[in-house]
Amino acid sequence: MLLEEKVSAVEAVFEKLDQEIAAFQKDSGLHCKFGCGKCCFKADIEATPLEFLPFALHLYKNELAFEWLERLKNAPSICLILNPTQSGAGLCSEYKHRGLICRLFGYSARTNKYNQKEYVTCQIIKTEQQESYEAASKKVEEGGAIPVMNQFYMQLHSIDMELTRDFYPINEAIRKAIEKVLSYYAYREA
Ligand code: SF4
Repeated sequence: MLLEEKVSAVEAVFEKLDQEIAAFQKDSGLHCKFGCGKCCFKADIEATPLEFLPFALHLYKNELAFEWLERLKNAPSICLILNPTQSGAGLCSEYKHRGLICRLFGYSARTNKYNQKEYVTCQIIKTEQQESYEAASKKVEEGGAIPVMNQFYMQLHSIDMELTRDFYPINEAIRKAIEKVLSYYAYREA
């Protein structure tokens, strides 16, 4: 598969996920606190490089890939895409190109050892929208529709096994995605 085809395949998975999340939010009434973004400040967020391949290609096409590689060399532990000074609904400076973990957080389920879905979200949603949260959790346990994390990771895995085999701290995953894009085009231009 060509790199551009891989990026399109990842974007198609993201689009499907975004639709499922929108449906879950509509049904449950759950939503993020305006301007929050607190989940993005966690220092231990991990991702796979493939999640950031669309972002890496976007950087490459805009001649920003090398600049970002430099910036990532001295990156802090929180996601470098995050812009804490940004005003508006969120703090992600590349919302369109955010990774799978960024999309899943707050509105997805894991499966427990009995293969039952369990809704996973943040403390803010749990406490500030308690009634809706409890109703949504119950509905999910009873089989209600919600994006399931491992199913989306498996969809990405089927696009590229190598770029989804390992999880890295988020900035390292972004760096690996950029390196992949750069080496791909270096090879093609050689
Ligand atoms: S998921 Fe929770 S912590 Fe993250 S932006 Fe939404 S309300 Fe804030």
